[in-house]
Amino acid sequence: MISAHAFPALEKSFFPQETLLMGAGPVPQPPSVRQANSRIASHLGERMNEVIRQIRIMTRYAFQTTTPWIFGLSGPGSAAAEMAIGNLIHSQSKVLAISSGHFGLRMYEMARRHQATVTLFEFDGRDAFPLERLRELLKQQFFHVVTLVHGETSSTTINPELAAIAALCKQHGALVVVDAVCTLGTTEVLMDEWQLDVLFCGGQKGLSSIPGVSLIAFSAEAWGQVVQRTFTPRHWCYDVLLAAEFWHHHRYHYTAPVNGLFALHEALRLLNAETLSVRIIRHRNSSRGLQHALLQLGLALAAPEVTRLNAVVGFFLPAGIASPDLIEHLLVEHKIEISASFGSPLLRIGQMGEQCRAENVFRLVNALALTLETLGHPVDRVAALESLTLLSEGAMPL
Ligand SMILES: *Cc1c(COP(=O)(O)O)cnc(C)c1O
Repeated sequence: MISAHAFPALEKSFFPQETLLMGAGPVPQPPSVRQANSRIASHLGERMNEVIRQIRIMTRYAFQTTTPWIFGLSGPGSAAAEMAIGNLIHSQSKVLAISSGHFGLRMYEMARRHQATVTLFEFDGRDAFPLERLRELLKQQFFHVVTLVHGETSSTTINPELAAIAALCKQHGALVVVDAVCTLGTTEVLMDEWQLDVLFCGGQKGLSSIPGVSLIAFSAEAWGQVVQRTFTPRHWCYDVLLAAEFWHHHRYHYTAPVNGLFALHEALRLLNAETLSVRIIRHRNSSRGLQHALLQLGLALAAPEVTRLNAVVGFFLPAGIASPDLIEHLLVEHKIEISASFGSPLLRIGQMGEQCRAENVFRLVNALALTLETLGHPVDRVAALESLTLLSEGAMPL
């Protein structure tokens, strides 16, 4: 046995300094979500059955779907992507992975690991989606599954053609798997109306809940394929038929993330109480206010207006300022975190859930202006804050 002396106990517990998280996720949590997350209980039994039942109902509202096939899972948004892919495809499947960045490529990579034949369909998310190119491809080749991302957080672009793409894929017999990790709860996402077969999100973005507990829904058609499948999915934890034991039959699959489910329940309850329409307007006004303030500060936005993602706003710094310096200064001097973007010069500010509160956006814009000045780039801080006021009241179009 190795002695405890070899591993001296630390004298202090580790509690990170409170930082305002204004990056691409995780995002701040409302106090009642934090409180819910501090509760533990048994993962089986009547009380948990009721919590699960309510989560399923509230998720149907959040996803805008009537499908009963709703599941939560232990794991990040990426695990929900694994669950979608791993339950629908195998080595004989043909998959089309549509991608305009990091998260589109992630699903491509996942499908490849399941040894499916995967075709990558890349496009520049800033441009109009090449619907004709897709139509030609679908005429020539059959795909069992098409994967795509609604809001591509890495390039800060949204795909406004999601419904048209899904309709086209459905006409050609494919199931449509959609990553709505950053758009669910921030932007309109209509699972049924847009004919999406599998839709998923994480907890730590638009829902303002904790990371590590995610949600996924299967359409009747997708569920039909799951039930009739003749292969064994490679992931035991993410086998959705096993997950149905817990999520639909009150039986043990693996120990559910109880605290996280309480947090998720509360986050969904807050979304229901606010209503989706009010929430989406709050996000749009806050994000547009921020975008306008960034322009006032002389910063260039990464995406043109038609494909600009509101949930995560990307911008470039003026020449002469290095992104790591700005990120560091914001963090150390102002206790605010924003994100870089996978090695590109793009900087990203999140507008998801609690990030879209006037006090947070004002604090960020003020700190950003002061930081730019400190780093040798004078800006009109007051004008930026003023434009924020007007926009947060919804008075001015961008
Ligand atoms: C954050 C994000 C993911 C990954 O979520 P994790 O919880 O980090 O696995 C996937 N897709 C999009 C669009 C995201 O924004």
